[in-house]
Amino acid sequence: MKVTFLGTGTSQGIPVIGSDHPVCRSENPKDKRLRVSVLVEVDGSNILIDCGPDFRQQMLSNKVQRIDAILYTHEHSDHTIGLDDIRPYFFRQGDIPVYAHSRVMASLQKRFEYIFSSENKYPGAPSVQEHVIENKPFTVKGINVVPVDVMHNRVQVFGFRIRDFAYVTDAKTIEEEEAEKLKGVDVLVINALRKEPHHSHFNLEEALQFIQKIGPDRAYLTHISHHMGFHDKVQAQLPKNVFLAYDNLQIEI
Ligand SMILES: [Zn+2]
Ligand SMILES: [Zn+2]
Repeated sequence: MKVTFLGTGTSQGIPVIGSDHPVCRSENPKDKRLRVSVLVEVDGSNILIDCGPDFRQQMLSNKVQRIDAILYTHEHSDHTIGLDDIRPYFFRQGDIPVYAHSRVMASLQKRFEYIFSSENKYPGAPSVQEHVIENKPFTVKGINVVPVDVMHNRVQVFGFRIRDFAYVTDAKTIEEEEAEKLKGVDVLVINALRKEPHHSHFNLEEALQFIQKIGPDRAYLTHISHHMGFHDKVQAQLPKNVFLAYDNLQIEI
């Protein structure tokens, strides 16, 4: 299994438009972060988690030839607003399978009415195959996916475990029985926004505590704000099995 971090930044990305913050002005490519998404390549299938505003650029830089499924964590724009750009995949492959909670699907239907409508479809508009998911395991192209229910302040979010890889973003609180589902993973990806506390995201300390509790071989932090600091400086302070993810990082599991 191969995982590519397509984006590792918080909702505004880094650099933030117009910002003079030193991290936003950094020339280190690891300090430039598109909005969060990962591509999981497993048994020859390409599973995308989230499809945000930087989707097109992410697909071009990583030369992604096919998308077999899109799994959505939740409805926030930084995770969903790139859906129109599935068009080149739709033209080649037909309807693109999307997997989302019913609430998230309803939000997508509202935002992308022209993609979901079946009548009077505009020629050139893409189409999707809708798969509503609940908090129980499902399969995508024969691959078992275990959703992990977490809370992002008051918004429910799905993390996903695929074999020994787990991806959890936009979490602030995680119930004990959901955390149990993550035990035994080799790689855990978890959100860590910044050092200061935040109402809807783990900060660095909360993420590190959670990693310690789960005990993966390796953990990667994502959904990072410029307030976290320079990549290299923060990385130097982390435990030896914890890494700040960065855009275009690829890992094998
Ligand atoms: Zn987000
Ligand atoms: Zn969010």
